[in-house]
Amino acid sequence: MAEFVVPEAVPVRLSRADTAVVVVDMQNDFCHPKGSLFVPTSPETIPRIRSLLDKFRRSGARVFYTQDWHGKDDPEFSIWGVHALEGTWGAEIVDELKPFPGEVVVKKLRYDGFYGTAFDHYLSMHGVKNLVVVGTVANICVLHTAGSAALRWIKIFVPVDCVSALTEFDLKAAFRQITFLYRGTLTRSDLVEIA
Ligand code: ZN
Repeated sequence: MAEFVVPEAVPVRLSRADTAVVVVDMQNDFCHPKGSLFVPTSPETIPRIRSLLDKFRRSGARVFYTQDWHGKDDPEFSIWGVHALEGTWGAEIVDELKPFPGEVVVKKLRYDGFYGTAFDHYLSMHGVKNLVVVGTVANICVLHTAGSAALRWIKIFVPVDCVSALTEFDLKAAFRQITFLYRGTLTRSDLVEIA
């Protein structure tokens, strides 16, 4: 069997008119050491995501968020335990990445940010053809949301320094699916240009 080598992160130039970024699940339960499903490498992605968002906001490109959001008897708790419980501190987006007024936060029930949400509607309404996907967990909600966008023929771009997972293998597995299956592009926060 051939060994998978993660493709190199490449520079990308995107137009503000048809590009958006989605910040996936950067919530206290995943990104804060006191969170119930803490991803230890997620805090180091926060300043990089922040600088990427600054670029998007400066250019006028759209910024979206997903927020994992469960009721108290959600069946997902049988897999992961209680997390992102609606209305709790754990479900809140981390302070450093709080959405700006007017930015859409898509509350989601499953790994896929499109499932049962209005995300599709927002992207098509604004003519989004390129979606930059950042956040956590790389092989779970980031991958499912990126994949779901790609299935709709939206081009996906994933800055490798802005995603995090529980293991190196999980991270690589996500990069494999993003590039091989969904034909997405791996880039880096400092290599994304938006104008
Ligand atoms: Zn969940």
